[in-house]
Amino acid sequence: MRRLRNIKIVATLGPSSTGYDMIRALFRNGADVFRLNMSHGSHEEIATRHANIRKVEEDTGRPIAILADLQGPKLRVGVFKNGAETLSDGQMFRLDLDTAEGDNTRVCLPHKEIFEALEPGTTVLVNDGKIRLRVTECANDYANCEVIAGGEISNRKGVNVPDVVLPLAALSEKDKKDLEFVAELGVDWIALSFVQRKEDMLEARELVKGRAAVLAKIEKPAAVKSFDEILEVSDGIMVARGDLGVELPVQNVPPIQKRLIRKCRAVAKPVIVATQMLESMIDSPMPTRAEVSDVANAIYEGADAVMLSAESAAGRFPIEAVQTMHNVAIEVESDPTYRVVIGASRGAEKMTIADGIVSAAREIAETADIKAIACFSQSGTTVGLVARERPSVPIIAMAATTRTARRLCLTWGAHCVKTDEMGRFKEAVVRAVRAATQEGFAAKEDDIVVTAGVPFNVPGTTNILRVAPCDERKIYSAEPE
Ligand code: ATP
Ligand code: MG
Ligand code: MG
Repeated sequence: MRRLRNIKIVATLGPSSTGYDMIRALFRNGADVFRLNMSHGSHEEIATRHANIRKVEEDTGRPIAILADLQGPKLRVGVFKNGAETLSDGQMFRLDLDTAEGDNTRVCLPHKEIFEALEPGTTVLVNDGKIRLRVTECANDYANCEVIAGGEISNRKGVNVPDVVLPLAALSEKDKKDLEFVAELGVDWIALSFVQRKEDMLEARELVKGRAAVLAKIEKPAAVKSFDEILEVSDGIMVARGDLGVELPVQNVPPIQKRLIRKCRAVAKPVIVATQMLESMIDSPMPTRAEVSDVANAIYEGADAVMLSAESAAGRFPIEAVQTMHNVAIEVESDPTYRVVIGASRGAEKMTIADGIVSAAREIAETADIKAIACFSQSGTTVGLVARERPSVPIIAMAATTRTARRLCLTWGAHCVKTDEMGRFKEAVVRAVRAATQEGFAAKEDDIVVTAGVPFNVPGTTNILRVAPCDERKIYSAEPE
């Protein structure tokens, strides 16, 4: 089973997408990575979704990446008696420390430090800025607010106070517990929210202990400022536009998105564009034209992945949302302009032998009639380098371990195949052409390019490029040892 597009789709799971059948349908329709949001749902629910994803993986025989997203020091309201309430413009609404369930007049905001920082006149934003409150009167344990812009408020919606600087640690006690829980459960990526400094990522790395790759969510002005340092110590990036667009003026988001994507590609690390991509599809089977353009533009800009949040987690049309992203990707990637744009933004600097080899692999593949580039990779780094080239032929990522195969599901264009430990190059070539023919990339009479590192099983040694015939008999008779 192969995808006919290169951009990857990340689908957040939630109440609309917990069961095996739904997760399988999302995967079949195009989701490559599933996101488990630790802000919502119990460990039990998370474990159920995790088990269902792994079952889909087993049943379909294709690696799937699981991304666990830690809540981070995000301010959130508590829960409501009725799950949700509608606030009207002009009404009063109270935030307090009382843990009782909320109603139309009040809700818990379980963060003591915020009340100490609030003043009359301060703006409080709820749900990625959709609801706007203004503090009229406050003390150390409550704030009475006037609703400036109302709307629906529901359980655990996020709260931002952009004008107030709060002293927040990167990982709360809950985050540490969640981190340990998902690392033991076995996830491929762990995302850290509200990263501000590279030290935040280093702290997380220390706790993760190599059990998963770590991804930095960029949603704070401070993270945008020290992005280069953060990128250096992260395995991947998410442009988390929801909070970014309330922490900074919303018009700053598009240029930041473009810059971050370019920087990630330059260092061959995967980057996800996230939040509100198809927001209207939470309630509608049809996206708005602006949303379709947004998804298309992220693809033109060279992102590795686009993400669904509430659309797949809590919406009415999760499958349609995945299909929409898929269809947009097919259209964009077959547009000649896309190839021109993506080629023009290819980083020119080649630093290592591996850089040179993957660049040559792309050139050969695009010059001659080559059906795919098969790339043997221990840690996944070389596959990242091939993906950075954005070749016009498919990339078959021949991963030495299941871990690497799963992790690479987030990388642009990588069709991941788990291989056994390779001993000799000839064996590897046979493996690669078999994968290419069996999975529908090439026929017997076709050729593919194979890259590998000899000796095998040493990360970072890519040093061979071979144009190989897909007819196995030819390999046996003609291949050098
Ligand atoms: P983040 O800032 O980490 O993105 P979020 O609250 O915006 O957190 P998303 O995963 O982006 O969460 O999903 C958007 C909305 O979908 C949530 O605010 C929530 O209403 C709903 N949702 C998502 N996942 C779940 C879940 N597991 N259980 C309940 N509701 C969920
Ligand atoms: Mg967020
Ligand atoms: Mg969100």
